[in-house]
This record gives sequence, structure tokens and C-alpha cells, in this order.
Amino acid sequence: MRIAIEGCTHGELDKTYETIVAAEKQSGKKVDLLICCGDFQSTRNLSDLQCMAVPDKYKDMCSFYKYYSGEKKAPVLTVFIGGNHEASNYLQELPYGGWVAPNIYFMGYAGVVVVNGLRIGGLSGIYKGNDYLRGHFESPPYSEGSVRSVYHIRNLEVFRLKQLASCSPDIMLSHDWPRGIYHYGDVDQLLRWKKHFQEDIQNDQLGSRPTQELLETLKPHYWFSAHLHVKFPAVVDHHNGGQTKFLALDKCLPRRKFLQILDIGDSRDDKEEEELPSVKFEYDAAWLAVLRSTKHLLSVEYANQHMPGPGYAGKHDFSPTETEVDEVRSLFDGDLAIPQNFVQTVSSFDPQTETVKDLYRTPPPSGPQRNSQTVAFCTKLGIDDPCEVLVSKEGRQMMEASFSNASASDEKSTFLSMNADEIPLDDDEDAEEGNGEASTSSCPQSESLPKRLSMSLPAPKNDADDKVRADDETPSGGFVIDATPEVAAGPTQGVDEPPKKKTLKRRNHAIYEVVNILNEPCHFLKDPTYVDQF
Ligand code: 5GP
Ligand code: MN
Repeated sequence: MRIAIEGCTHGELDKTYETIVAAEKQSGKKVDLLICCGDFQSTRNLSDLQCMAVPDKYKDMCSFYKYYSGEKKAPVLTVFIGGNHEASNYLQELPYGGWVAPNIYFMGYAGVVVVNGLRIGGLSGIYKGNDYLRGHFESPPYSEGSVRSVYHIRNLEVFRLKQLASCSPDIMLSHDWPRGIYHYGDVDQLLRWKKHFQEDIQNDQLGSRPTQELLETLKPHYWFSAHLHVKFPAVVDHHNGGQTKFLALDKCLPRRKFLQILDIGDSRDDKEEEELPSVKFEYDAAWLAVLRSTKHLLSVEYANQHMPGPGYAGKHDFSPTETEVDEVRSLFDGDLAIPQNFVQTVSSFDPQTETVKDLYRTPPPSGPQRNSQTVAFCTKLGIDDPCEVLVSKEGRQMMEASFSNASASDEKSTFLSMNADEIPLDDDEDAEEGNGEASTSSCPQSESLPKRLSMSLPAPKNDADDKVRADDETPSGGFVIDATPEVAAGPTQGVDEPPKKKTLKRRNHAIYEVVNILNEPCHFLKDPTYVDQF
């Protein structure tokens, strides 16, 4: 299967699909699947844009809304995980995954899907120590704190994914990198492009701990990430003889390595490409079994909750049994195909009648909205929607879909993206450090809404991860997109001593193997400013 992998999309769906279509034309081979590793920005309208953690001056509708309204159709099945710049209200409607637009599927807080038999797992969000143990206490309307904490990774999802150790996905996705992964690639080259990673790498603090644990536990064949805005391949050899090929990609910007096309799994006979068989897109029975068996671990509390471990008197091993997997199959009558049940539930942005300047007069959503996809999924599996649980606990109501098709415009949009090259989007940590307040983890709203919360709490303790992150700059001259395989030398002595408590085995000569998975010409665009140089 031919898969295009993208780093951070940052709402640039038009650019992304143009690139894929151009790559298909050039190679004469169809892409079967696009995987996006977060910062997808599925903002449908200005109200969604209010729920995205980005300083107002950088808020831009970009192009997702066209795919939401039906004005455009994603030319390839697209699956994505969330990052730290998302339409969080919309993604919260789909905690276990679902269609955000026709042909564009969100994987949920965590999820596993099966595409043409290939099992793809993902973990949304970024890690932040302060929020890791909390329940999913956030819901719209967000406070200044909850609009950020809502995308912080929770131990529940990591615990659930770890249950798949004996039946690992083939591919795993995370927005941030697994900590320590730089020891398995050309760290010198990485530091030439990203000098400001030096300190974090020296302290072995670049990337996130939960994803490192997941990589060590699941040992998937491939792991794709984004967030650090640089292309970086690495190969990890595990003690059991398994291997993980890691690839991080840049964000979608001109002349940046944001896209890679790889052949993974069974390849199609390209002569038949006129008559493309439709891609088989299914739920993963083992994952659904874990969702069911761990449903009691869902918390919507602000308070910390630990996951059961070996020292716990009750059950702590939820690796799916054959019986549990069979039960899932029978719930679905043996047909795990993901239903095409997308429905538009809000009006989409209309560039004919509004501009992003109207943001200031657009109210944020007053509460969480019910999504029929989640209702259907939860009913089928007998599990709970975190937002429903939260809302009923607080004596509130979910909002019902409000969309009427009458307002949809058929006219082609003339709206132009305002995203400049490398907008200094605040990283999560930047803004949190910047305001000096305890905004990260505000308590959930408990009273009548939609007032914005201004509750003050004691400042959270800074943990090792709470550092000011400067957004990066393109190295002088940029690094151009090229078709030359990345011949990465093994790690150099001295700079990257293996971490002390590492359970992964390092193999210095293995990096050349990455070449084999990166040998596709890729990521060039029709737009002259994006043109590749090969
Ligand atoms: P975003 O696009 O998510 O706002 O920002 C990502 C930016 O933050 C990237 O430019 C990346 O270099 C920087 N960043 C994210 N995490 C880290 C980290 O752990 N250490 C350093 N030094 N920079 C980081
Ligand atoms: Mn990011």
C-alpha cells in the first residue's frame, strides 16, 4: 500500500492534497492513504477557531472548512491524530474517533484502525506532566487553561494502548517524538538543523516519556511523528529482534520536508490503477476489546487517577483475550468496516460573507455538542462518551446538531490562506510560561455556563518538561526538498551517549536501512514557490 505521511498539517489541506496529486502524476502511482501526525486544525468555522490554542493574531481558517462543507472532497482517505493546535471542541465530539469530513478520519484521543489489513495506532496530543494523571475534565466553553490542557495526553489512553503489547499495531503515530529516539538516528545532523535541541538532547529530555514507553512496549514496525518541525529518520533495534523504523516529518510549508510517500504492506499492481479497488477501512477488534474492558477506568475528574499496575489488588492486565475479541466481532456481526456516517452538524465558514476578522464577534461554543457517530459507537460497544459523563455530572446538557443545509454555499471559495512561512505559533509551553498563571489546569467549570472561567488556583509545579520553547527558524537557505535518499551516518561518539536506563538496544550501523523506506521522490507542489528541486 502506498502511504503518504505528513508531519504537522496546520490546516493546509489544499496544499497537502495538491502535493499528493502532483506526486501521483509524477510517479504514475496512486496514493492509497494519507496519515497526518497532528496539528491538523480541523476548524469548521470561526467558533471552532475560538477553541484552538493559538494566539488570536495567528488564527486562520486555512482550508479544512471547504472539505467539511462538501465544497471539496479529500482525494485520498486521510487519517489523523490530534496535536496541540486543534479544533478541540470538534475533536472532543469524537473521543473514540470518527469522520470530521468525508474521507477524513480522526483517530480519537487514542485509537487503532485497520487500512487494507494494516493496523495503525495513534495517540493524540502532547505530554505535559501536570495533566497526565487527570481525567478528561475539559469541555467547551474552554477557559484559558482548559483550552490547552484539553490536548494533553492522559495516562488512560497510554495504558489502553499498552494493552496491545501482544498484538501490536504495525504503525504507530504520535504528535510529539518518543523521548530518546534521537539516539537512533543522525543526531549531529539533527543538531545542525535544530541547534536549540542541544540542551534537551544532552539532558535526554527531547520528546515525551509516555510515547517512549509505548515504543518500547509495542515495538511497532513503523512510528511516525511531527511537532518538532524537522525530518528525522531513525531505526530502533529491540532486544527481541524486532525493529522500529521511526520517521518524523516537518510542518506543511514551502520547501520543507513535510511529506513522505512510502510503500508499506502489500503493494498494488499499478497497472490496474485506473480501476482502483476501494480502500478497506475497518475498526481494530483488539483495540475495541480494550476500550470495552477498560471502560471503568474512564475518569472525567480533575483529580489525578493512577492506572492499575502489578501492585494493585484488582485486575491490571487488560490485554485482549480471544473471547473478548470474538465478542467485539459478534457485536459487529463480523463486519468491522467503519461506517460512512459523517454528517455535517454546524454551518461551515463562508468566505463570501465573513472573514477571520469576525472572530472577535463570534462567540465560542457554549457547550459540548453531541455527535451521532460517537453515540452510535458508544451504544454499540456499551462504553461511555467522556463529554456525556462530564455534562451529566455537572447537570448540563449536550448541545444537539444545529446545522441546516440551506446556508451551504456551492460557490468556489476565493479565500486565501494567510499562513506565512513559519508563523511563530506558540507552543503549548510558551504560552503557559508566558502568562505566569496557573492557567494550565484550571478546574472544570461547575456552574452555569458559558461564562469563561477566571478561577485562580495555586501555580502548578514546573516539572522537567515545562520549559519555554522557542519556535524554530528555517536554517539559513532552508533545506530543500530533494529526492536524494537521506544517507544518515550512525550516531557519533560523545554527543549521544545512550541513556542510562535504556531498554532499547542501539545499533550504530543500522541507519542505512532507513534509506530503503525513504527512497521515494516526495513532497513537491504545483505551486511554484513549493517546487521541489530534483
Ligand atoms: P507547535 O507548532 O506545536 O506550536 O510548535 C512546535 C515547536 O516547538 C517546534 O518548532 C519545536 O521545535 C518546538 N518544540 C516542541 N517541543 C520541544 C522540546 O521538547 N524542546 C525544544 N527545544 N523545542 C520543542
Ligand atoms: Mn505541535
